[in-house]
Amino acid sequence: MKSFYNEKLAELNAKVTKVEKKGSHLLVSFDDTIFYPGGGGQPCDTGIVSSDSFQGEVISADEKDNVVHEIKPTNGSLKVGDKVNQKIDVKRRHSLVRMHTGEHIFFKSLQKVVPDLLLDKISLGEEESKLFVFAKSLSWKEIFEAEKIANEIIRENKKITEKEYPRDEALKMEGLRIKPERIPGNIVRVIEVEGFDLSACRGIHAHNTGFVGSFLVTKFSKTSNGAEIRFMTDASKELFRYASLLRESSTLLGTNPEQVPDFIQKLQKDSGELKAKFREAASKLAMQAKNEQVGSRNLIWNVVEDLDNKQMSDTAMKLCKDRAIVAIVNKGQTNSVIIAASKDSGLEASKILNQVLQHFGGKGGGRELLANGSFTGSVDSFISDLKELLENS
Ligand SMILES: [Zn+2]
Repeated sequence: MKSFYNEKLAELNAKVTKVEKKGSHLLVSFDDTIFYPGGGGQPCDTGIVSSDSFQGEVISADEKDNVVHEIKPTNGSLKVGDKVNQKIDVKRRHSLVRMHTGEHIFFKSLQKVVPDLLLDKISLGEEESKLFVFAKSLSWKEIFEAEKIANEIIRENKKITEKEYPRDEALKMEGLRIKPERIPGNIVRVIEVEGFDLSACRGIHAHNTGFVGSFLVTKFSKTSNGAEIRFMTDASKELFRYASLLRESSTLLGTNPEQVPDFIQKLQKDSGELKAKFREAASKLAMQAKNEQVGSRNLIWNVVEDLDNKQMSDTAMKLCKDRAIVAIVNKGQTNSVIIAASKDSGLEASKILNQVLQHFGGKGGGRELLANGSFTGSVDSFISDLKELLENS
């Protein structure tokens, strides 16, 4: 018997038909069960089994020939023939039913907005659930539209019924969402949201759409062939949290909530432009290097900040002419350094760099004309060591 489909029940009396050991746990079957064994993306129920001489926690239920319950005993023992009381964790069941029913309503809503969309799989959780879809393209705009339809259906408190049909008959039903390859056997359980959706499913659903409370998409990200959509149901708490974040954000930005997205886009554009300007200015500043005659060569050097490696090597190459050794040091927690050597200097950039870095425990690599490395410690000492090396080369 499968009394788990009678979701008005929160507890049930049943008789033990089989007991096996699994470590310190028991694998138990009953002549009837209130525990949904999971399936169709909906996790199994959990709860408690008890009798005069036994108490245990049902940590999972799985359907094989019949439903097998994994029970962690907390008191006493259990044997075939014992009469027990089964109690499900009602809060968990209700959350999962809300999620599952919400998923049916939302998926259908999304299909109304994006007709070529297909269901990949669902993964329901008590707090947040995931829906994976195949879609050529999908945007927040379409998701918002579907979310709106779903919440209207929830508000209308439409009737939800479930009925079993012979497979042949079900396959002929117009508009039925079904994946025949995933349904074993000859009976198809059809869930109908009155006037809105028909879907083949073996999970547990609410009897009216109002039970879902509300439907909120919490995250949307694209996958290689579609999208992952995370959602919550009965989401008023989360909606208030989102509203608080928006109100805080709009206050920080000094704008109306309606204008926040446009305002952020403008800020992003401004910040991009400023970064480009800053980069340009930093590069210009880096070109104002010191030029000293050391022995028969020119040592051209500069200490900069906030330059990336490409800017540093571009600067070094531009400055490197006429028997020159160029050193550009970018100061930071770890200093990075670029050394350039002109061909007529008679020296190799990588050799110079490695010789100086020896004193600092730093590391570097590169070629004859250009080398880069990093070190910690005093930049002044680095420059003076470099000078000393050039004097003696
Ligand atoms: Zn379902």
